[in-house]
Amino acid sequence: MNCPVCNRPLKSAKSIAKGIGPVCATKVNKIDNEAPKDQLKMELKVE
Ligand SMILES: [Zn+2]
Repeated sequence: MNCPVCNRPLKSAKSIAKGIGPVCATKVNKIDNEAPKDQLKMELKVE
């Protein structure tokens, strides 16, 4: 299985479970943090 963001093979079990590499997961989280406040509130409730 490859990371959908950078297309590199996922090596760790956690990355495979998430379906994304750790570096790209961080990038995606940063993008999510820039999302509208309503979406951010929804994410905080989940956590
Ligand atoms: Zn990646």
